[in-house]
Amino acid sequence: MSNRIFLSSPHMSDEGYELQYVKEAFETNWIAPLGENVNQFEKELATKVGAEAAAALSSGTAAIHLALRAAGVGKGDIVFCPTLTFAATANPIIYQNAVPVFIDSDEETWNMCPKALEGAFKKYPNVKAVIVVHLYGLSANMDEIMEICNRYNVPVIEDAAESLGTYYKGKHTGTFGDYGIFSFNGNKIITTSGGGMLVSNNEERVAKARFWATQSRDTARHYQHSELGFNYRMSNVVAGIGRGQLKVLDQRVEKKKYIYGFYKKELGSLEGVQFMPENEWDQPNYWLSSIVLTGKVKPIDLMDALEKENIESRSVWKPMHLQPFFKEYDFVGSGVAEILFENGVCLPSDTKMTDEDLHRVVETIKKLW
Ligand SMILES: *Cc1c(COP(=O)(O)O)cnc(C)c1O
Repeated sequence: MSNRIFLSSPHMSDEGYELQYVKEAFETNWIAPLGENVNQFEKELATKVGAEAAAALSSGTAAIHLALRAAGVGKGDIVFCPTLTFAATANPIIYQNAVPVFIDSDEETWNMCPKALEGAFKKYPNVKAVIVVHLYGLSANMDEIMEICNRYNVPVIEDAAESLGTYYKGKHTGTFGDYGIFSFNGNKIITTSGGGMLVSNNEERVAKARFWATQSRDTARHYQHSELGFNYRMSNVVAGIGRGQLKVLDQRVEKKKYIYGFYKKELGSLEGVQFMPENEWDQPNYWLSSIVLTGKVKPIDLMDALEKENIESRSVWKPMHLQPFFKEYDFVGSGVAEILFENGVCLPSDTKMTDEDLHRVVETIKKLW
């Protein structure tokens, strides 16, 4: 059997930057708590994306949770959330005992549809916060979304877990809203094995998030707590991996773009194959090359054929309003996300793939036509 081709797996630098930083953590015994790698990783990531401040956390999910708290979301509050996303976007709304309202995608971006968002504001004018996601490294329509949210004066949290390295009109995704979050989970464009980051231009709010993330310990000689706390900080060892990975982020984006271009050239003319949207204002990181099938070949046939050749692929996210856990919550839209889910496939986009691997993928797919 040929070696397995992955959707997106960890890819450490050839130079060994990550190990170097981890080694420093060992040598200085800054295994925990916190330490130089955490401080520097926060600074380096903030600089990379152009944010004033960053807090390194244990996961992207933790970052969304703290962003919701920072935005003042609490019991019974309504939060708009794209329906087409990973459950990690929506779960923290429930952690806060708040109420998600799911918003449809549009075909132009696959992300939050500004028209559906406008409709949701009319229906729920008392909404407390809006979460925007940049799926698969494609940026949402930020000008229109921000215009609407600013008009209603509602804070915006950008879930940029999949879009580190993506720019919208030259500005990094995750820096348009009041808060942005990134993930360094194993399948993301860079990984720390697991981790996340909260960014904002409001340094005070970020400092507050760090406080909450370390059990909300007041400044006192004894253990004193005036607020609910969490154990959400990133470890200094893990942050070392992140510092090393950040050095190769641009390289990873370049490779992901190459993979997308390769697929598009080889598969773009097959009947009923439509590639994920590219917009002139978008400079994606191409995290996962995704397609929509509108012809006789169905996603399940394609995924089965790939799996037989030991190649991993995945359907597009199943919308949140169709998830058993979230079925009681409202949805505003016309069914675009559902169509994307039913017809979409994420192709293997692992940056360690060789041209030979890429040929193996496209030849397997072409056989179905
Ligand atoms: C991965 C991901 C998250 C969660 O990040 P973790 O670090 O795994 O907690 C949130 N939102 C989206 C869209 C993601 O893809």
